[in-house]
Amino acid sequence: MSKNKVYEEYEHIHEWFDAHRDKSLMEKEYLDLILANSPKQATVLDLGCGTGEPLAAFFIDQGYHVTGVDGSTKMIALCKARFPEQTWLCADMREIDLHQQFDVILAWHSFFHLPQSDQRKMFAKFAMHLKPGAVLAFTSGPAADEVWSDNGGQNLYHASLSIAEYQSLLKQNGLEVLLHKVEDPDCGEATTWVAQKQVVNHLRTGRCQCGAIQYKSQGEPIALYVCHCPECRKQSASAFGISLDVKKSQFQITHGQPHFWSRPTSKGDQMRCAFCPECGSRLWHESVPNVKDLLSIKGGSLDQSINLSNAIHVWTKYKLPGVVIPESAAQFPEED
Ligand SMILES: [Zn+2]
Ligand SMILES: [Zn+2]
Repeated sequence: MSKNKVYEEYEHIHEWFDAHRDKSLMEKEYLDLILANSPKQATVLDLGCGTGEPLAAFFIDQGYHVTGVDGSTKMIALCKARFPEQTWLCADMREIDLHQQFDVILAWHSFFHLPQSDQRKMFAKFAMHLKPGAVLAFTSGPAADEVWSDNGGQNLYHASLSIAEYQSLLKQNGLEVLLHKVEDPDCGEATTWVAQKQVVNHLRTGRCQCGAIQYKSQGEPIALYVCHCPECRKQSASAFGISLDVKKSQFQITHGQPHFWSRPTSKGDQMRCAFCPECGSRLWHESVPNVKDLLSIKGGSLDQSINLSNAIHVWTKYKLPGVVIPESAAQFPEED
């Protein structure tokens, strides 16, 4: 009896499984929730799709396109024969890397065949294959445990993490729980999870003190620095400079015309510094030539507050006495 490749056992019981899998759609509450949170003609990745019935069939009926993955060649052959228009892959779900994101991922009554350590690793894989706003549905056990149970004459391995650990893994991977039940009596005592990948909004806006110059920045920031060097102290007229590095191509002036002041850098380039000609606030810096498509927004000019807990502190050898750097933050006496 394999603990590592439970799908191999299904090669012997695929006919039994097909005949005995409950097809009454007792999962209806979960399926309705998935439909409500996915677009028309959505794409579904069904991990451990079995024979494609009843779950893949349900989504195919809705006009969704299903990509089914199962480790059992016989199950996949059945799926291909039943639903030739869909995509069927014979693969181990732990090894998939499809370079595609889906609207829905199912790992229903399949994920729980993986050993605990492999289950933990699957959440990053789920997240990587989900579009923002997409839905993940899976079943687990009710508590951290390992169980063997008879299925059609095969003794099959099941494992589960604790409910708290699943909650934490979902959160860490940007997934919010929409519905979760422990041993749902209306769904064959299954412990169920439906979670949604959060949409991260990277839009930031900023302005000078008087508002004459305004800007916006899209896309994920590249890094956040707190610089204690004497130049940054002068520039900010404060204890340190804050730089949120973003891509220049994702940055846009939305109001006004800044003025610029330039200074040579230690690397022999020019630092071109934008400021408001009315109120004098420093707004952003860029290197000339700007080969890295990089722009450093001066953190205090942002409308949205930035979290400095994990900022990278540089030139700390110049740090003013009394300035305290959080223990968790990376810090460098000079540049990083
Ligand atoms: Zn201004
Ligand atoms: Zn500096």
